[in-house]
Amino acid sequence: MRTTSHRQCLECGMFVARHDVSCPKCDSRLAAQTDGSSFTCDIAHHGERVHEAINRLDELIELATADVTAQIRVIVGAGAIREGVYAALKGYRQRKQIVAFKQDGNNTGAVLIQVRKA
Ligand SMILES: [Zn+2]
Repeated sequence: MRTTSHRQCLECGMFVARHDVSCPKCDSRLAAQTDGSSFTCDIAHHGERVHEAINRLDELIELATADVTAQIRVIVGAGAIREGVYAALKGYRQRKQIVAFKQDGNNTGAVLIQVRKA
């Protein structure tokens, strides 16, 4: 994940500011651009309490939204964190801040969060 304050327009290659909604050069809608990438993060196996795991989830979604990430894979374990994460993700989907989320295949301890349409 890039951490600079600038990003590049994937249509024309122009460097644009993170807060730009559309590219000043080619008018492409930057917020919708994705390079199809995904990353995995474990938020349940370092002794996190539920509210700490949810805070981490909020950070991950914010990071992915500001970048060109298509999908986040979050490891949520099997207990209260998992339930909390699913409840939080329902809110995100209702507010249209994410596209969709679902369990990762047969792995009940992992959730796939689709941030943008690939
Ligand atoms: Zn552009």
